[in-house]
Amino acid sequence: MKFDTIIIGGGLAGLVAGIRLQEKGRQCAIVSTGQSALHFSSGSFDLLGKLPDGTEVDNPMGMMNRLDAPHPYSYIGSEAIAVYADEFSEMMKRAGVNLVGNVSQNHYHFTPMGSVKKTWLTLKDFTILDRPDNFPWKSVAIINFPGFLDFYTKFIADELEKHDVKCKLSLVKLPFIEKIRTNPTEMRSANIAKTFEKEENIDAFVEAVSPYIKDVEAIVVPAVFGIYSDKPLLYLKSKLNKDVCTIATMPPSVPGIRMQQQLIHYFIRQGGTFMLGDTVERADIEKDEVKAVYTANHSDIKMTADNYILASGSFFSRGIIARPDSVYEPVFDLDVFYDTDRSHWYDTDVFAPQKYMSFGVITTPDFHAIRKHVTITNLYAIGSILSGHNALHEGCGGGVSIMSAMHVADNLLKNK
Ligand SMILES: Cc1cc2nc3c(=O)[nH]c(=O)nc-3n(C[C@H](O)[C@H](O)[C@H](O)COP(=O)(O)OP(=O)(O)OC[C@H]3O[C@@H](n4cnc5c(N)ncnc54)[C@H](O)[C@@H]3O)c2cc1C
Repeated sequence: MKFDTIIIGGGLAGLVAGIRLQEKGRQCAIVSTGQSALHFSSGSFDLLGKLPDGTEVDNPMGMMNRLDAPHPYSYIGSEAIAVYADEFSEMMKRAGVNLVGNVSQNHYHFTPMGSVKKTWLTLKDFTILDRPDNFPWKSVAIINFPGFLDFYTKFIADELEKHDVKCKLSLVKLPFIEKIRTNPTEMRSANIAKTFEKEENIDAFVEAVSPYIKDVEAIVVPAVFGIYSDKPLLYLKSKLNKDVCTIATMPPSVPGIRMQQQLIHYFIRQGGTFMLGDTVERADIEKDEVKAVYTANHSDIKMTADNYILASGSFFSRGIIARPDSVYEPVFDLDVFYDTDRSHWYDTDVFAPQKYMSFGVITTPDFHAIRKHVTITNLYAIGSILSGHNALHEGCGGGVSIMSAMHVADNLLKNK
């Protein structure tokens, strides 16, 4: 099996790089073990919410130049980031994902707990606020289904009430959801979302909620409308003459699953090969070059390419793995940045920046991977596997994945 580029990992970074290359006619294969962080996504992509020293950021572009090496943004440069930001939104639109947001002004979106959090781009069907205290309504009905435990209506109400929004909590019982409820382990957001793929079930929901929403300005519902596209939510909105605010549930995230599916399908429509459920286990490396990779499903059959991109994620996706006293990268045994003193890995204050979050592979400024201090000429690393940033503390996870993917893909396109 021979490709122009083989990408290891089909999360946000791998898919963005794959789509960018495939759209320009390069033959790519993405090999991906399974679920990615997108399945847990809030429906928003963060670019930069805080500097490493804790300074709050409202205008990410205005602060980019304050980031030093080895932060991935410092390697890419603010000019390129501004261009990639526009191009990413357009690419997502072509894939069927509509986003709103601005690189020069963060906005706020709701977390599953009802608090608001700074971010860059949010799915168009979510409610966003320009300021953390600028709520568009004075009264809302928060609706849930009996037995659905992944949507915390009371916490959401507590948060909204801090901002003088009056909340009315209601449960609506619908026969097609009660059917799922007979098996409590099935009572998950993705299964509920599947029932709302039928318009008649949305009609039944609208009828069931109407007694509760007469005297409120908006209705707050779990984000369970639209697992394959945004059509169910648009249909719901057309049937209710109220503002509809969807709030992401506890995982799995229906909007995240939808985004991942839309990106995979778009990549395949562009001619890409997506190997889901397969894992790259090892590679042939000669001197400073990857010659082939081998996967679990294809055993000794070589997969070869001119270039390879490692987008296998951080600890969460096992792109890097912690031993008691070290951190390693399991496919190529790349050089990894970590603190050799384990007691420095974490802070007992859970709200403090956690050092382990900045561990990851070390690269050159153009994201070539490094192995035993030697630069591998045809292997790049992108996304959350990169060291030099702390996605949680700096609020930059989505942005680092997107920008590093666009940057590496562009460099590959320039080279041939
Ligand atoms: C739970 C969680 C929620 C997050 N939510 C947000 C959010 O809402 N907004 C935001 O901006 N950022 C969020 N982040 C930050 C997040 O890291 C990035 O936004 C981004 O999605 C990471 O993408 P990635 O492609 O680098 O890695 P991942 O999404 O982790 O994807 C890596 C993929 O590689 C596959 N893989 C791993 N090893 C192999 C192998 N050897 N062979 C083949 N495949 C392999 C994995 O199965 C996985 O599919 C979140 C992070 C986590 C952990």
